[in-house]
Amino acid sequence: MNRTMVVGGGLLGGMMAHLLARQGVPVAVYDLKRPGNATWAGAGIISPEISAVVDPDYVELAMAAGRYYPELVERLNDYDIGYGQAGIAKVRMRGEDPTAFERAKTAIFRRQAEGRFPTQHAVQEVNPDWLREQLPLLGDVAEALYYPQAARVDGRKLASALRMDSERHGAQWIDAEVQGLQVKEGRIRGVTTDRGDADADQVVMAAGFWSRSLLEPVGLHLGLTPHRGQIVHLATDRRDAGEWPIIEGMHGHYLLAWPDGRVVAGATRETGTGDAPHLTAEGQHEVLTQAFRVAPGLKPAMVVEWRVGLRPASEDGRPILGAVPPVEGLFVVTGHGAGGLLCGPYSAELVVRHMLEGRPINPAFSAARFL
Ligand SMILES: Cc1cc2nc3c(=O)[nH]c(=O)nc-3n(C[C@H](O)[C@H](O)[C@H](O)COP(=O)(O)OP(=O)(O)OC[C@H]3O[C@@H](n4cnc5c(N)ncnc54)[C@H](O)[C@@H]3O)c2cc1C
Repeated sequence: MNRTMVVGGGLLGGMMAHLLARQGVPVAVYDLKRPGNATWAGAGIISPEISAVVDPDYVELAMAAGRYYPELVERLNDYDIGYGQAGIAKVRMRGEDPTAFERAKTAIFRRQAEGRFPTQHAVQEVNPDWLREQLPLLGDVAEALYYPQAARVDGRKLASALRMDSERHGAQWIDAEVQGLQVKEGRIRGVTTDRGDADADQVVMAAGFWSRSLLEPVGLHLGLTPHRGQIVHLATDRRDAGEWPIIEGMHGHYLLAWPDGRVVAGATRETGTGDAPHLTAEGQHEVLTQAFRVAPGLKPAMVVEWRVGLRPASEDGRPILGAVPPVEGLFVVTGHGAGGLLCGPYSAELVVRHMLEGRPINPAFSAARFL
């Protein structure tokens, strides 16, 4: 059997290793544990339904990815990945401009009318008083949309579970920096690392934002930019927090609660910051201001931790999946931006089926668009 290498051990690299190892493919994952890796900072919202994204290819992928999750959860049943159904509400606070809310509502209901949601899982408008009963820390909500099936997952726990499960099925994980790809006569031959060269018949690039510089030497100029995200974990003494819905405000910020009383408030979406995974005073101010705008009851909460990650965002907003045309045996799986925890597992499944069975992937996600 051919030897396959995966570059990067975030969510996408971990998923590739998990799926390939379970298929009996000898696989080695090279991971550097870079500061700023996106998976380690991710909030954990698994819900395509309330998104205002209208790109039909992306929406189709995201909806399929949402449906794929229960299958993944079932396979990882031996591990705690923090998965649970939470429901999500998109809220407009009193005094905020209703136009943007109307626009989002129209896009969501249009997708619903097109039959993209199973009818028993419809997005509904709900009474703000009902929502405040669910989550007493909320402020003065003027209107709200609610989707009961939305879920959450702990990205760190999920990535660790994928690593453990892949190792159980024979995958090797190596702490090393991949510095380059070895290509000869149009075929991948292996990778160069800071611990020496290693041969491979297939290489999967899953190095998040850092995939860009690793693929440039083979002529692929991935339109990937880092979207920096700063996010805070707050501790409350609320034992009912695990029952709270996820809340999304009108400025792209959100609150996500966990059964231990922790509330995650996120996040900045910063472009033009380069490869700089550090916290900033302005970012922290933004995150807390938006959190308090929606839930002033959070003000006394204890700050547990700030996290920061570089989301690998493609310039057209679509993931980059499948073969890298100039080089036989080279594949890529990245570009999920702010939706990697949701879409990443299903994207990896598509790439594995493509590698092992030759199944085509929607050309909208092809790496060829960056040649
Ligand atoms: C603040 C924040 C909140 C988010 N919230 C959500 C959310 O609620 N829902 C959602 O769906 N998505 C969310 N995301 C997005 C999601 O986290 C990412 O899209 C996803 O984790 C990307 O995973 P990845 O494996 O592609 O990249 P990464 O997690 O960045 O992993 C890349 C890996 O490659 C390794 N690497 C890099 N270079 C090399 C090298 N040369 N050699 C070896 N290894 C290398 C790094 O060490 C790293 O482990 C959020 C992201 C952030 C930052």
